[in-house]
Amino acid sequence: MRFPLLPSLRTGGSARCQRCGLRHPASAESCPHCGELDDAEEEQLRRRVEREQKGQAELGRVFLILTAVIVGLLLLLVLR
Ligand SMILES: [Zn+2]
Repeated sequence: MRFPLLPSLRTGGSARCQRCGLRHPASAESCPHCGELDDAEEEQLRRRVEREQKGQAELGRVFLILTAVIVGLLLLLVLR
């Protein structure tokens, strides 16, 4: 059986860069993120990416707390 939705969900031939760890199209000859950077610049890029990922994790936690608060308020309204 075939699942027609699956191909559209796939990112289609992406590979993770060995150097900076970011994803890029597998067809790319060199990594578009760090291909033109020297080692020092690549280090900076990696740190920035790390910080952004941490920020996203933080954002996810805030969102989770907000959801919990909203659910709690709804429960209070319902149970009153
Ligand atoms: Zn790279």
